[in-house]
Amino acid sequence: MAFEGLTNRLQSVFSKLKGKGKVTEDDVNEAMREVRLALLEADVNFKVVKEFIAKVKEKAIGQDVMKSFTPGMVIIDIVNKELTDLMGGSAAKLAKANKPPTVIMMAGLQGAGKTTTSAKLAKLLQKQNHKPLLVAADIYRPAAIKQLQVLGEQIKVPVFTLGDQANPVDIARQAMDHAREQHLDYVIIDTAGRLHIDEALMDELKQIHETVKPDEVLLVVDAMTGQDAVNVAESFNQQLTLTGVVLTKLDGDTRGGAALSVKAVTGCPIKFAALGEKIDALESFHPERMASRILGMGDMLSLIEKAQANIDADQAKEMERKMRNAEFTFDDFLEQMQQVKKLGPLDQILDMIPGMGKMKQQANMQVDERQMDRIEAIVRSMTSKERQDPDLINHSRRKRIATGSGTQLADVNRLIKQFDEMRRVMKQFSDMMGPKGPKMMKN
Ligand code: GDP
Repeated sequence: MAFEGLTNRLQSVFSKLKGKGKVTEDDVNEAMREVRLALLEADVNFKVVKEFIAKVKEKAIGQDVMKSFTPGMVIIDIVNKELTDLMGGSAAKLAKANKPPTVIMMAGLQGAGKTTTSAKLAKLLQKQNHKPLLVAADIYRPAAIKQLQVLGEQIKVPVFTLGDQANPVDIARQAMDHAREQHLDYVIIDTAGRLHIDEALMDELKQIHETVKPDEVLLVVDAMTGQDAVNVAESFNQQLTLTGVVLTKLDGDTRGGAALSVKAVTGCPIKFAALGEKIDALESFHPERMASRILGMGDMLSLIEKAQANIDADQAKEMERKMRNAEFTFDDFLEQMQQVKKLGPLDQILDMIPGMGKMKQQANMQVDERQMDRIEAIVRSMTSKERQDPDLINHSRRKRIATGSGTQLADVNRLIKQFDEMRRVMKQFSDMMGPKGPKMMKN
């Protein structure tokens, strides 16, 4: 998980402070020294670190942390706010043209994830009921056009191409005409990347820029490259005036330096974060959520948003009713598992829950997706009658289910036992709540 090292370091600094009823100035100085080291180790730009620490110290003194009843919490709060500010304060929105189409020019070095991100962005816009057009203007990287076409087909977004012999500026110009004719409201141009920044590349990008007058110029940078990503952003920005940055590969074990420095160094806000190779692994970047994730305080807001986007509200209500009435069956259980899966890899979901990331680590917990698959296989090996009425499942049926699902009898027994237990708890809970609310509350 990204930022793991930084999160651990910061948490250990703060847990020392939290344990203290009274904090001296020395304690604060010592904590700040450790925060400074943690940030430097996470590959945050040294100038950024220096300014950051100075600001936190100033605020800590201003707020009279030493006199507070919960000095540790006050400092965490200050650090949280400063981290948020460092990454831009609030989420930066994507620009929108007064007259469609809105043109988004994607730039970046080869391998940063530009083509993938172009398609991800198209998918995100499509989800918001827009009609994007993807434009294949990277004529140099072998297979870049094909890659965009394959992705476009996968998400059912049209891809404009003139092959790899046409001039990228002509491609961009004709793509604009095409979008207008077809009433498409977003044009996403996947421009060429290079291994290094060179003049020819910049000239081409400038020409495209001049021709299409983009509303957004988004630079795609690989978060795994740390300070290099920030340097690349700075060079591009000097020549092209970027409107935003997309940080990719935040699912990897990046130390976090790029995310924390890029806004401060270049002045460009991070607009999106990519957290995986899958086509829907792109999110709007929210500095306040990222800060709380870095501090190990979880990211419940993102989780709730994901749930709202992916979980059917009616279905959720019906499920709640069933749980209350203890009508929950293995079919419902299976459905719940599918819903959770829709939210993304289990590992990432757990990291968004406050405290969970740390707990997972302390317990050295391995989130085993295969275990989920095994459970699913067991339930799928049950007949429809058995799923509706688990009491039917006797010993010989259990043996059959184990064989059918390629698991052991013990696995089946365990699952059924857990399921019974879950139903028992649900029943108790709903009895306790009663139709008119909690009984315990009444006299
Ligand atoms: P381009 O040369 O900039 O167009 O880069 P591509 O879009 O071809 O991406 C390069 C590689 O990075 C591909 O293998 C992508 O699947 C991978 N990639 C892109 N974004 C992400 C991400 O957010 N996470 C991970 N893990 N891989 C990514």
